[in-house]
Amino acid sequence: MKRLALVLLYLVPFSLFSQQIKLERIEPTFWWTGFKNHNLQLMVYGKDISKTTVGLVSEIKHMPELLDVLKVANPNYLFLDLVLSDNTEPGFVEITFSVNNTVVTSYNYEIKERVPGSAARKGFNSSDAIYLITPDRFANGDTTNDKLGFLLEKADRTNKDGRHGGDIKGISDHLDYIQNLGATAIWINPLLENDQQVYSYHGYSTTDYYKIDPRFGSNLDYYNLAVQIHMRGMKLIMDQVFNHCGSGHWWMRDLPSPDWINVWPELTRSTYRAGSVTDPYVSERDSNLFVRGWFDKTMPDLNQRNPFLKNYLIQNSIWWIEFAGLDGIRQDTHPYPFKEMMAEWGKAVLNEYPDFNIVGECWMNYPATVAYWQKDAMNRDGYNSNLPSVFDFPLYDALNKAFNEPEGWNTGVVRLYEVLAQDFSYANPSNIVVFADNHDVNRYLDSQHDDIRKVKLAMTFVLTTRGTPQIFYGSEILLTTGSDKSHGTLRSDFPGGWPADTKNAFTSQGRTDKENDMYNFTERLLKYRKSKEVLQTGKLCHFIPEDGIYIYFRYKGKETVMVVINNNEESKTITTSRYDEFLKKYKSGMEIITGQTLPDLSKLTIPAKSSFVVELMN
Ligand code: CA
Repeated sequence: MKRLALVLLYLVPFSLFSQQIKLERIEPTFWWTGFKNHNLQLMVYGKDISKTTVGLVSEIKHMPELLDVLKVANPNYLFLDLVLSDNTEPGFVEITFSVNNTVVTSYNYEIKERVPGSAARKGFNSSDAIYLITPDRFANGDTTNDKLGFLLEKADRTNKDGRHGGDIKGISDHLDYIQNLGATAIWINPLLENDQQVYSYHGYSTTDYYKIDPRFGSNLDYYNLAVQIHMRGMKLIMDQVFNHCGSGHWWMRDLPSPDWINVWPELTRSTYRAGSVTDPYVSERDSNLFVRGWFDKTMPDLNQRNPFLKNYLIQNSIWWIEFAGLDGIRQDTHPYPFKEMMAEWGKAVLNEYPDFNIVGECWMNYPATVAYWQKDAMNRDGYNSNLPSVFDFPLYDALNKAFNEPEGWNTGVVRLYEVLAQDFSYANPSNIVVFADNHDVNRYLDSQHDDIRKVKLAMTFVLTTRGTPQIFYGSEILLTTGSDKSHGTLRSDFPGGWPADTKNAFTSQGRTDKENDMYNFTERLLKYRKSKEVLQTGKLCHFIPEDGIYIYFRYKGKETVMVVINNNEESKTITTSRYDEFLKKYKSGMEIITGQTLPDLSKLTIPAKSSFVVELMN
């Protein structure tokens, strides 16, 4: 009797303690064999999980080795350093968590086999044309996921800043539309879970880095979307956000360590002045505020200096590339995180996928500051971002003004010329993404006072200059923000995307004549670009604009395309001897929008506020 009591005394505290241990997550949720980098760091989360002893049990040959078990300030986390080898075979590894040699919980961790050829994928490039979609606002293909009880915000189309119900099914239902338009790549604003009280639709407040938001669909739906896109010979670009997470992220309730995020005594926002990173005269205060300040009250600033968080984000990125077979990443607010970490990330991704492409949102208006962030830039401080591509915000800024003001020495089309003339700053000017609008700026039509002629000029320029063009969903059908210039209406619903919509702009019958005119113009140019290597990878040569006329050539091998932009409010007739270095080799041309033949290239008459895209012929 006495002896039994003693045994009980020993057992009770142990069992109570072991019952408290609860494994909640292991991330990455699974991994693959065959990466060049053999290291894998697992984040383990669960009540008092750090008080256990970790072991690995497996039948697979050359099972991963558990190199180290690392503890952080919070006892509810463990980080496991595993090493795989070239010989590690796919299969399951049981990770056991024990107290006093008794297993209290375990996890069957899967090591998958990589898809053959996975490392050799080609990322998006200048042969592509990107169609940008805000998924909540494009099409609602599944109304059953609009109002989910286990997520905070429910769909409400009457709220311009609320969720409207668009989803992955809506995108996959309209792949024909996107492909018929002539786009070859799709960039979708973030799809990861954003379980925030309000304003969750835009997707930039991640609350789970390994889960597609159920209001958009599941991880499997995303995978299947990627498969469908690839079957069409198209590419998928994922929007990723390393600078901040959402305030509703699960780890915000129980941070691994106090330095997981940048903490301030009170809400302190970033200065949003990305140019301060390269500013030789920057004050310590400004420099610190830019990188460590919060993007928003609901977007805690992640501290990428923390080595566990760094590994977490890098592995997360590679996980999505491998899982969904991505063709590119768009990185949000690229200069805001700790830049050394971002460089390590780019290097790690390119190490596994040498021909992959990543475009960073480096939102500055000067080529020199943007160029700093492109891979292999000749930076005086030796910084190499390992970021292959950047968005051309300087050109966007010029484009926003060029067609909307009188021609002058410093105004009008010369703005485009002057920005492109600074391309010497870039390590790789052909790998830059060019756009006239996106989800963060006024729709081009709105910034041009509803003048469709100017929208066409911008579309012509974006699709014929160097780089990879990007079109914002709906701009091809003149979707407008109207009088309310808020972000909520900027990202308005594509007409016809919702079952109750009376107008369906996905079909020519559903569009007005004006909308069809713009759609057809865009389609014609996109399809021409798709068929002409010269517009994708040809060299660019431009001439100093004169009298409001900007002329440039794209040339490759025997092919030359001449683009003429007349920014005047009147028709212009020009003699072309100035362009002889190109024109002397050709006898005639064909204007590809109208199909009109130009038998005499020595003289051209271009109507007011319009362009010619001329294929030169012998
Ligand atoms: Ca839906």
